Amino acid sequence: MHVSVPRESAPGERRVALVPDVLARLEAKGIEITVESGAGDGALSSDETYVEAGATIAADWAAAIAGADVVCKVQAPTPEEATRLAEGSSLVCLLQPASNLELVKVLASRRIGAFSLDLLPRISRAQSMDALSSQATVTGYRAVLIAAERLPRFFPMFMTAAGTVPPAKVLVLGAGVAGLQAIATARRLGAVVRAYDVRTAAKEEVKSLGAAFVELELEAQEGEGGYAREQSEDFLTRQRELIGKEVAAADVVITTAAIPGRRAPMLVTAAMVEGMRPGSVIVDLAAESGGNCELSQPGVDVDVNGVVVHGAADVASSMPVHASFLYARNIAEVLGLMVSDGAFAPDFDDEIIAGMCVTFGGEVRHEATRQLLEGGNA
Ligand code: NAD
Repeated sequence: MHVSVPRESAPGERRVALVPDVLARLEAKGIEITVESGAGDGALSSDETYVEAGATIAADWAAAIAGADVVCKVQAPTPEEATRLAEGSSLVCLLQPASNLELVKVLASRRIGAFSLDLLPRISRAQSMDALSSQATVTGYRAVLIAAERLPRFFPMFMTAAGTVPPAKVLVLGAGVAGLQAIATARRLGAVVRAYDVRTAAKEEVKSLGAAFVELELEAQEGEGGYAREQSEDFLTRQRELIGKEVAAADVVITTAAIPGRRAPMLVTAAMVEGMRPGSVIVDLAAESGGNCELSQPGVDVDVNGVVVHGAADVASSMPVHASFLYARNIAEVLGLMVSDGAFAPDFDDEIIAGMCVTFGGEVRHEATRQLLEGGNA
């Protein structure tokens, strides 16, 4: 089985799909790896380190993908790049098919087997392949550092000869993988942390990290597979009313609330931002999927009467070494599941393979994506 790793072409993307560390375990399974020259530069993995780990370096994109059974990427290729993938080859990446319908059409028409890590079933056996979790770990951690850099106060409490400094008050909205990592990181920096999630299961996890769970008079919103379900506008209105006091009391608000495949719920209104003390900071990790804060814009700091609203963008890519290190392990595990006796042999009876598959053999196999295409939303 021949696997190739082209350079990421998305602007600002510094991660790479495979790092030299994981190559030995792939080679042991009979997988040969070709890496486009410079593909690992952003993650500080040089061509030389790939060669030392047994990979072949290809001069350019075309040479890298030539003869590949499977092309591994972080982000989805552009539709134009997909037209240059070999017909009948396969692709593994974070494809986000619902927002890339043009790409899905090209992949199907070229009979490319596309497997998307964001569709991975979140079952115990798939945990080591869970790229959404590994990248959310990075974003949750970074969100706190982004806030700490902007906050004109300390995070920890200090008792000094010059006086006592109270700890920063951090509120985390959404306590999934990123939110829990944000709580843990803010606690390590010494902040007093409160957190809220619509799933009841989150309460014990929040408390186990030393944060207080914010109790709101609202019904739980558990959906399928451990995710939250989409909430009604009435629910969100009541949530905003109840959370207002918490937001006003916080020095830092980190929002991570998301519903898979849907626009992020809007939790913090412009009026709530105006009610915060000058110097407070909001980091909105959902900014790229519609935003949890009404005022956030991806990649921008918006200043509202001295309150900074940071719309996070490309956060995982801003810590490329460890984001790639974890992602590469996820990819290596997925590839391990697709290889048999050194040959590419995806087993569609395996719910992990079937769950991740967007297109194969000219068909769109992912039901929700097929419906979107048939609905003419492409
Ligand atoms: P996510 O990124 O889809 O959402 C982030 C969080 O936002 C979730 O906890 C969700 O409940 C919360 N949320 C949604 N609407 C909200 C609202 N209006 N107010 C406050 N919070 C809101 O979720 P995720 O981080 O990818 O993970 C969600 C769940 O999946 C968690 O239970 C996690 O433990 C579970 N999980 C399981 C596995 C596994 O078993 N392999 C792996 C990863 C995650």
